[in-house]
Amino acid sequence: MGEQHIDNGVLTCIGLGANLGDAGAVLRAAQDALAALPMSSLVAVSPLYRSAPIDATGPDYLNAVALLRTTLDACVLLRELQRIEFDHGRERSIRNAPRTLDLDLLLYGAESIATPQLTVPHPRMHERAFVLRPLLDVLPAASIPGLGAAAGFLPRVANQRITRMTP
Ligand code: ADP
Ligand code: MG
Repeated sequence: MGEQHIDNGVLTCIGLGANLGDAGAVLRAAQDALAALPMSSLVAVSPLYRSAPIDATGPDYLNAVALLRTTLDACVLLRELQRIEFDHGRERSIRNAPRTLDLDLLLYGAESIATPQLTVPHPRMHERAFVLRPLLDVLPAASIPGLGAAAGFLPRVANQRITRMTP
């Protein structure tokens, strides 16, 4: 999918979300930006899901999960994700417009990371259907360090409204 193909490195999972503007176009641009990251190769991208905002009002979100194999450090990868958010996630016409793209580092191999800037696994991923459903599409055996099989958390989020957009 990307220009580069690496065989070593860590398998990481990245959560993508967008709910303003043309969210589908924003997510496509974000996928292209992930595919172009240095020292990385995009392994898979889940189908898109539509989900209702949690703890907020506003338009529905579009969500997906990407699998990225990379030799970038986790903190370097986070900075790259933040750059992609900034590059693709704003309504260009309006200064200080709300962010339209959220990229979360969900899993970095089997590592647990706790720094002021970065918590991995993402601390709320197991509570969110819009993370778990696409994650399990691309990585059915996904395991959350400290918590266990991601699939085990699906029943607890069964009440969250979420629809798969593509087959
Ligand atoms: P949300 O929790 O809704 O994704 P934000 O994207 O606004 O909220 O949060 C961004 C902040 O979260 C950044 O300052 C970043 O340093 C921090 N952060 C901590 N852990 C992670 C992670 N695993 N993935 C992405 N951002 C993280
Ligand atoms: Mg985020």
